[in-house]
Amino acid sequence: MSDGDDGQDLGITESKEYSTGEWYAEVVQKAGLANYGPEGMSGFIVTRPRGYALWEAIQDELDGAFKATGVQNAYFPLLIPESYLEKEKDVVEGFDPEVAWVTQGGYEELEERLAVRPTSESIIAPYMAQWVRSHRDLPLRVNQWCSVVRWEATDTKPFFRTKEFLWQEGHTAHESHDEAWNETMTRLDQYEDLYRDTLAIPVLRGQKPEHDKFPGAHTTTTVEALMPDGKSVQGATSHHLGQSFAEAFDLTFADEDEEERVAHTTSWGLSWRALGALIMTHSDDQGLVLPPTVAPEQVVVVPIWQEETRDDVLQYATGVAADLEDAGVRVELDDRDERNPGFKFNEHELKGVPVRFEIGPHEVEDGEVTVVHRPDGEESTVSREGIADAAQEHMDEVYAKLYAAAEENLGDGVRDADSREEILGTIGQHGGYVRAPWCGEEDCETEIKEQIAAEIVLVPFEDDVDKRVHEGEDCAVCGETAEETAYFAKSY
Ligand code: AMP
Repeated sequence: MSDGDDGQDLGITESKEYSTGEWYAEVVQKAGLANYGPEGMSGFIVTRPRGYALWEAIQDELDGAFKATGVQNAYFPLLIPESYLEKEKDVVEGFDPEVAWVTQGGYEELEERLAVRPTSESIIAPYMAQWVRSHRDLPLRVNQWCSVVRWEATDTKPFFRTKEFLWQEGHTAHESHDEAWNETMTRLDQYEDLYRDTLAIPVLRGQKPEHDKFPGAHTTTTVEALMPDGKSVQGATSHHLGQSFAEAFDLTFADEDEEERVAHTTSWGLSWRALGALIMTHSDDQGLVLPPTVAPEQVVVVPIWQEETRDDVLQYATGVAADLEDAGVRVELDDRDERNPGFKFNEHELKGVPVRFEIGPHEVEDGEVTVVHRPDGEESTVSREGIADAAQEHMDEVYAKLYAAAEENLGDGVRDADSREEILGTIGQHGGYVRAPWCGEEDCETEIKEQIAAEIVLVPFEDDVDKRVHEGEDCAVCGETAEETAYFAKSY
């Protein structure tokens, strides 16, 4: 911790409820996750080891899931020749305002500008085209873990929105439209699983409206998470790219009859915005709160001694920590001499350690351990015997508490509206998602956007019968026949 030793500056001073933005920035910095980049480089952040460890936890989980479902990792250049980008016209138009360009190498002016990748379809597709000859080469699935740069004008918010961000981008090619659709859904399912099972965040799934698709895509699908302040986060996207990229880059194959056919491609990405959602969802006015699944330390053991009990307490605490470690629990024994227990409690709360074990002379005497849950401070006593199992149970309980709170927030956060006034009023008052029948025209979204900065974050999938528009309903904004149900929300 970089702040002063007197403990004055260590704690969180902002309020999650009343100054969410400032609170978030304070948690990110004081919990040691990230710093803002150098002056003159707004939009860039430095990810500290504790922040990077969280990204690695996400990486491990997703990378395993991808590899178990036929994906291989590869790596492509950071820079993309302008002529490659220009081959797919929607990509140029869609990303042009946000591309950073390299125009000089050393003292030499380059003949062709090189784009710092904002996404890599344009350099991956041409190589996939070289690798694919026949239907036997399909499906082809590659993924890369890397950073991309998008020169967005909006304010920096560490992890949520930065100019350079870490992500994974998966790219696949298939024989048919339906196979590509199945792939798109497989990856969306994996993103949903990650949020639910690793980050303790329930999500909504659906597709983006036509006008908000990834440039050039046939369909963009998304998982959206609702933050406690009522704003939505686009948690990850999975795109069915149809045949436009394959056509632009000659990604063709010989089918069983030796006929040349154009492949169907997909791409899908999850960025460190997932970390933003994680921090924002669970943390509180004491600092970071982490689910045990991703916490670098799952349990901290804090011995509490007086001079005369020191040896007994330390020996007992060391034994407990060793048992946990043997059982594969990520445990830290905080036996620092120079800090008192109260200071240690605060520090581990700030850093988001999910479970605290307190061990003093009473615990030693009774053969017990006092257990405290980070999210709500709930305290209980467990027997020293079978301590590793107890630790696992308490970690599971903490996870369940975090998930339940996030689920309640989402459950309460979806409301219906059938007029423009109701959409505006409901979002203005409660935030969250407002579900309304919609004609499908962008103009109707623009009207809402201009008045309250909310947009359509998703429309349900065609087969989501419960959520589709009912016959005879009219667009809540313009009154024309409704074509689908739109979920309006403010978003990060
Ligand atoms: P896209 O390629 O636009 O579909 O974005 C892929 C993923 O990156 C999505 O999960 C977005 O939420 C995320 N993302 C897009 N822009 C940013 C940004 N500026 N900072 C962090 N994550 C981003």
